[in-house]
Amino acid sequence: MTDEYYDLIVVGGGVNGAGIARDAAMRGLSVALFEKGDFCSGTSAWSSRLIHGGLRYLEYFEIPLVYESLNERRTLQRIAGHLVRPIRIAIPVYAGARRGKALIRLGLVAYDLLSFRKSLPNHDMPGRDAALDAEPGLNPEGLKALARYYDAQVTYAERLVLENVLDAERHGARVFNHSPVVGLLKDGSTVDGVLYRTPGSETPLEARGRAVVNAGGPWVDAVLAAAGPQPKELIGGTKGSHIVVGRFDGCPTDAIYVEARSDGRPFFIIPWNGLVLIGTTDLRYDGDLDTARAGDEEVDYLLAECNRVFPRAGLDRSSVHYAYAGVRPLPKRDEGPESAITRKHIIVENTTTAERLYSIIGGKLTTYRNLAEQVVDRVRQDLRLPAAACRTAVEALPGGHDTASIKGQLEEAGLLSAQGVKRVLEIYGSRAGELLEGIESGELPQGTLGDGRRVLEAEVVFAFAAEHAGSLIDVVHRRLMLGFDADQGRRHYPAILRLAAEHGAWDEQRRQDELAALTRYADSFLVAG
Ligand SMILES: Cc1cc2nc3c(=O)[nH]c(=O)nc-3n(C[C@H](O)[C@H](O)[C@H](O)COP(=O)(O)OP(=O)(O)OC[C@H]3O[C@@H](n4cnc5c(N)ncnc54)[C@H](O)[C@@H]3O)c2cc1C
Repeated sequence: MTDEYYDLIVVGGGVNGAGIARDAAMRGLSVALFEKGDFCSGTSAWSSRLIHGGLRYLEYFEIPLVYESLNERRTLQRIAGHLVRPIRIAIPVYAGARRGKALIRLGLVAYDLLSFRKSLPNHDMPGRDAALDAEPGLNPEGLKALARYYDAQVTYAERLVLENVLDAERHGARVFNHSPVVGLLKDGSTVDGVLYRTPGSETPLEARGRAVVNAGGPWVDAVLAAAGPQPKELIGGTKGSHIVVGRFDGCPTDAIYVEARSDGRPFFIIPWNGLVLIGTTDLRYDGDLDTARAGDEEVDYLLAECNRVFPRAGLDRSSVHYAYAGVRPLPKRDEGPESAITRKHIIVENTTTAERLYSIIGGKLTTYRNLAEQVVDRVRQDLRLPAAACRTAVEALPGGHDTASIKGQLEEAGLLSAQGVKRVLEIYGSRAGELLEGIESGELPQGTLGDGRRVLEAEVVFAFAAEHAGSLIDVVHRRLMLGFDADQGRRHYPAILRLAAEHGAWDEQRRQDELAALTRYADSFLVAG
């Protein structure tokens, strides 16, 4: 038994759950957030990492969704400018493509109009010669023009989610990482709380609450199943895969958005994290959600289509540093093409299971903040709480404040190379100041990892002490973001293990287990040669 009692319990620490917890805590609700793995270890980590209006959705006349997304793009640039940055996207228009020049122009004019209050430039459409000057690596055969427009990119979605979690906590929320919800509690017909487990313990604990939001992403139905058999499934997930390769001969400077020849689906080739992210696919998926990975056919499809657009690239499976896949938590639709399933979010109150139990279906990284606002409005109304203004669109995330003086301090400290300073500011934003303070006070170690002076040793300890990391996997893949380097951060394993073990006083067995788990995890993203 427990005396934990909350206004709102949020199940799932992906972008939506973290955003809901932040908004609710900022509006004065007592909140608990439970994540079964690490924060942002689900779908939110496996996307194309674009904060975009979704040009493609115009084809399905999802005008309100595009408008909402474009608005949110601007908001996220404002509250998290260190994480969300503009990116130019270029669409090469080829003779015989399904989408011709006129249709693409129409779409981009609509995109410009729908983002009329935007902070980014309008589109342009250079002709063939100028297109080849701008992107000389493009396949010239049948090229008619290049349509260019702006969107935004969140290089590290993991950090966006984490900052929402940390800000929720700063506003009083209790956050439980590596703590799965294993049951739902009811009082008559109303949800009354959850049963959850904490790391290292098999005994479930109770947390009572007046409302529960199920933000389990593709696991939404699994969370509901904990309350007993359900009348129907809410989620019909589709799997999307990406491959990550090094910069290749003829590599684009802009992100490229182009139709695949084999099936006419548009896909992205995106400069990202010093590498190139290529994706995605879209396939109905009913396999194990915890182990979804890119299939060989998806990898070959993405390689072949990229080679077609950039003939000098010469990519094959040996070019792939790693590949990842995520399952979109889309509403269940058994019929029709995957790409036609709406990307709009839906908030469902599961009254057949329990009142005050809300499940989130669909949604995008881009629109998480607005979704959270709607969910919290609804919960407050249902709980008959007095209205309270949402402030998530105006208050910056913890690292989203001005970094000019911190940049100066980092340079003055002389610990990092220029590249290292840039990296630290892109990951921590203004929170880099906390790292510096910790180093200066002697609470955090002073050295750097390896010889590139790119990564602070302090970051490893900080990840455990201030950022809820629970394992080496969390540190490498979702705090320091080294897991997305070409070598998946492997060159730093010994130093990170040493620092983590010293900080946590790990015994020899724990050291071995942590390193083995990290290696297994990184290996699972490798592609068979
Ligand atoms: C291939 C692909 C490309 C995409 N590209 C983009 C893009 O470019 N831009 C964009 O805006 N959107 C994109 N999306 C969509 C976007 O990534 C997702 O819609 C969004 O991340 C969903 O977030 P979520 O929080 O609902 O789900 P998740 O991130 O999956 O979070 C759910 C969390 O719940 C946890 N959980 C599950 N069960 C339990 C339990 N019992 N107890 C506690 N915790 C539990 C999980 O571990 C998980 O962390 C893409 C999606 C995919 C798959």
